[in-house]
Amino acid sequence: MDIFAHALWTAALIKGLSLQLKRKITIWKAVLWGIAPDVFSFGLLTAWLILSLVFGGTAMDFQQFEAMEPAQRDTIPVFQIVSFMYNFTHSIFVFAAFFIIFYFIFRRPLLAMLGWLVHILIDIPTHSYKFYPTPFLWPISEWKFNGISWGQPWFMALNYTAIVSAYLFLYVWNRKSGKPENPPNQKKKHI
Ligand SMILES: [Zn+2]
Repeated sequence: MDIFAHALWTAALIKGLSLQLKRKITIWKAVLWGIAPDVFSFGLLTAWLILSLVFGGTAMDFQQFEAMEPAQRDTIPVFQIVSFMYNFTHSIFVFAAFFIIFYFIFRRPLLAMLGWLVHILIDIPTHSYKFYPTPFLWPISEWKFNGISWGQPWFMALNYTAIVSAYLFLYVWNRKSGKPENPPNQKKKHI
């Protein structure tokens, strides 16, 4: 899914969780966790492509890039790094390990980190084998789900319609809940 949709879904779902649990979760932190998996994998690739273009020399033929299948892609060092980072950041086991480590460091669950889990769970059904299927079981298993590619126009339209609906739903839910968990004079504990 594109990074804006990831950010919007993370904010909506974590806000929903916060309302459900009646616990304050800092949404912008959850959103940062929610986009981090792609920033630390595709972001690296984008930065590398831009630098290649700016400094010439190793400039890449974008059409060739589009046409490449993962097997060929992984013969190029930068793609090997990207693939490793993609595996690392899109694994539920890596997420769980970090969540537990942070739990012991901060002596409480960092609920904003669930944005990371939301990212992985969203990616599983929205990536097909054609483009970076989600390696959510890495490194235990190589198995990946062959989902629907999020890049198709009909899917994007449906996705953003669903996002708008989710925000309308949250707006109503938030008003109805009357925010009893956040009395104005009480210092809030941010997670
Ligand atoms: Zn992703």
